[in-house]
Amino acid sequence: MERLGLRRDIDLALHLPLRYEDETRLVRLDEVRDGETAQIEGVVRDSRVEMRGRRQLLVRMQDESGEVLLRFLNFYGSQQKSWGPGVRLRVRGEIRHGFFGREMVHPQVRIVKPDTPLASSLTPVYPTSAGLPQTYLRKAVAAGLARAPLDDIIPARLLPTQWPSLREALHFLHHPSASVSLAALEDHSHPAWQRLKFEELLAQQVSQMQARAERAHLKAPVLKAGPQGLPDRLLAVLPFQLTQAQQRVVAEITADLTLPQPMHRLLQGDVGSGKTVVAALAAAVAMDAGWQCALMAPTEILAEQHFRKLVGWLEPLGVKVAWLTGSLKAKAKREQIAAVASGEAQLVVGTHAVIQDQVEFAKLGLALIDEQHRFGVAQRLQLRRKLESSELEPHLLMMSATPIPRTLAMTCLADLEVSTIDELPPGRTPIVTRVFADSRREEVIARIRDEVAKGRQIYWVCPLIDETEDSDQQADEAAGRVSNQRPPLDLSNVTQTHQDLSEALPGVGVGLLHGRLPAADKADVMSRFSSGELSVLVATTVIEVGVDVPNASLMVIEHAERFGLSQLHQLRGRVGRGSVASVCVLLYSSPLSDSGKQRLKAMAETTDGFEIARRDLEIRGPGEFMGARQSGSALLRFADLNEDQGLVNRARQVAEVLLREHPRVAQRHVIRWLGDKTEYLKA
Ligand code: ADP
Ligand code: MG
Repeated sequence: MERLGLRRDIDLALHLPLRYEDETRLVRLDEVRDGETAQIEGVVRDSRVEMRGRRQLLVRMQDESGEVLLRFLNFYGSQQKSWGPGVRLRVRGEIRHGFFGREMVHPQVRIVKPDTPLASSLTPVYPTSAGLPQTYLRKAVAAGLARAPLDDIIPARLLPTQWPSLREALHFLHHPSASVSLAALEDHSHPAWQRLKFEELLAQQVSQMQARAERAHLKAPVLKAGPQGLPDRLLAVLPFQLTQAQQRVVAEITADLTLPQPMHRLLQGDVGSGKTVVAALAAAVAMDAGWQCALMAPTEILAEQHFRKLVGWLEPLGVKVAWLTGSLKAKAKREQIAAVASGEAQLVVGTHAVIQDQVEFAKLGLALIDEQHRFGVAQRLQLRRKLESSELEPHLLMMSATPIPRTLAMTCLADLEVSTIDELPPGRTPIVTRVFADSRREEVIARIRDEVAKGRQIYWVCPLIDETEDSDQQADEAAGRVSNQRPPLDLSNVTQTHQDLSEALPGVGVGLLHGRLPAADKADVMSRFSSGELSVLVATTVIEVGVDVPNASLMVIEHAERFGLSQLHQLRGRVGRGSVASVCVLLYSSPLSDSGKQRLKAMAETTDGFEIARRDLEIRGPGEFMGARQSGSALLRFADLNEDQGLVNRARQVAEVLLREHPRVAQRHVIRWLGDKTEYLKA
């Protein structure tokens, strides 16, 4: 029960059936067709145990129209005894045509009397968890439903008149009458479902708006570029001009920074759209105003790459950049922490080590989080605490290459401002994606030779579950979602591929990169690849985010079927960064699962990150999309963001009215629906 989040009566009342079974009527045997599921009542003629390949209990039962054989492969001796000749049984199951005539294998069985009443409503089948029997759960839910306070909290005038009250809706959904359209129940279009989905969306909207309102009371430093003109000087040293889209988002961000409330903004833009330089410009504004900035990235490799880039851009302009990661030696770490505490370092770049408790900022004005969705909930909450601990709360800019569909942004992230870079820098050639069976590996290796001969570089990515830096993928794999329960791959996969490629490509520099290498080795391999000394980089998903080597033109992903869609898109985004035409080869091994097929198809059909995100949402559902599984609760249980756009809009309007006119009501509603989960929603 705990695992299902069923603690309070209201949680039980809101635990809705997956589907229903119809035990409200009896069917005559001669009315049931083979393959149909039905409830039948009859009298036992004969019952015995036989060996038919294996030991089984065979019960012959007769109703007024015919006979059927009930077959049980697992049974207790007591069942054989109590289901003896003359006993009246009510059974429910699928009728099949077996070798010895019509039969039902493992039907549900109840001993009845001729006057035992039928169920008066459909029987609910609840989502359950291993070891929790359906019958037990049914009783618990019925009890919870009876006890839970279900009075309507939302004033009736804010709701459509054709909707039932919450109590009616719940009683109906748990025990619908047999006359109802199962289709309307199953596709959730029934008014009772509408009511429930609306309530859920409303709770979410209210809690997001509250978070936003709370922020409006917080004070943040006003950050305006000062007399040193650091942002302009940075622009002058950049080897390129900002795109229109970059200029627009820089303007949006810098306008926020001049406000005395903390910014809470998401910068989204497809892979390669140039978010880093936007972050650097925001940082330049903050530092010019005399405040410190922190830039945090989810992996050490990405953090290191940002560090190099920012040092290259900013140190010549007189900015001191500190470097903080978990793998720093104690002495170096102390020095870096001291530079942050004294304010000597104006910019700190690193992994989540940047927000650890020992790190005290002299004057933190702006926190920049790259690939924010890659951080776990715990780290996001830690960041929140860090930001809230200073007297003036720092501004926050999060970056993500996983574009968030509009409906999702409106619901799950309603307390965020969003800036979007909707344009790639000029001169990029679109990436061509090819999907090959693993048996065509040799062809792919031949292609690598050609590319190397042209002076290009190649990534070859292997899946690996035990990647310490990448807890997301581990969770995916652990949940069997991506791998479909295939045995996990270990390090030998990537090291083996590295060896194979080194042998197949004599004279070509082939590097190996994975999360278990010491930090110094990782940095070394990465810099040899960046400089062109290595032509091929065999890697795990440690290179998934952010890595930027514009000369790379071929990305090979092996066991592509094991990766999630957004992950594949991210990986593919490592190529197509320069002006040469790039190719992404997805190697898969059969058999492919349905969702595996869908993912590879989506990759072959589009390179548009928004379209990919939309399909990902379709394939996986919003809860998982947001990484909410880490909080142990899907964000939305009932509403479907693709289908319920209308309800989302309505919930938003009602949330505004409630917060304005009935703030206590709004609060009660949130507690009823979200209980103790509200903290996660803010993370
Ligand atoms: P992402 O949005 O994926 O983080 P990056 O910030 O890593 O993308 O930028 C991708 C590449 O594009 C980098 O090499 C960067 O220097 C380059 N870049 C960024 N903006 C521009 C621009 N306006 N014109 C040309 N190149 C750019
Ligand atoms: Mg990036």
